[in-house]
Amino acid sequence: YPLDLFTSPEHYCEDLECVYIPHGVIMDRTERLARNIMDDLGDHDIVVLCVLKGGYQFCADLVDCIKVLCRHSNKTLPMRVDFIRLKSYLNDQSTEDLHIEGAENLSVLSGKNVLIVEAIVDTGKTMKTLLDHVEAFSPKMIKVAGLLVKRVPSGTGYLPDYVGFEIPNRFVVGYALDYNEYFRDLNTKDSPRVSTYFKVWTRQLV
Ligand code: 5GP
Ligand code: MG
Ligand code: MG
Repeated sequence: YPLDLFTSPEHYCEDLECVYIPHGVIMDRTERLARNIMDDLGDHDIVVLCVLKGGYQFCADLVDCIKVLCRHSNKTLPMRVDFIRLKSYLNDQSTEDLHIEGAENLSVLSGKNVLIVEAIVDTGKTMKTLLDHVEAFSPKMIKVAGLLVKRVPSGTGYLPDYVGFEIPNRFVVGYALDYNEYFRDLNTKDSPRVSTYFKVWTRQLV
């Protein structure tokens, strides 16, 4: 969508090319994913494992949607929420070495139903590495929810169990997704939540 259909923060306007997925569409899709997750996992206790940093907004909204659905259907779905931090990107390039932080207490996942929540899957390398890591703690079941999946020819072909949207091979920001820590704040309700950015370099970003 053209940028001028939306209100974006002035300090980011120059860097954005378009609004790729408006906030309301993300929220509708998230509600639907929550419904699918409830249908599959509604009878289990789950441990939600949020992949930081980019996953925080999607995870918070998804957990909210699950809670609302539970209330409306008089169900209880005991949920623990835990966090893990993964880092593989430098600027807008995926790098080979992946850092995992916060994995010290993953032993709590042993025998549990685990829902990993990640904002975006690009080549799939990050998620494959994380899955190997989590599997080592012998959870009962692992499911992965990914809000965005990129169509990349060089990818591993990995697909999460729950996919929000498939997107073309462009770099997107907003809704907690960053470019060198900027643009995470492109996520208020009156601004585009996920957008492709246009210029990599501006004075502000240096
Ligand atoms: P993968 O290992 O699948 O290639 O990369 C996944 C990670 O790269 C994501 O967790 C995210 O941190 C980062 N990433 C991939 N594509 C994008 C993008 O378009 N925008 C942003 N902000 N991060 C991305
Ligand atoms: Mg990430
Ligand atoms: Mg990042």
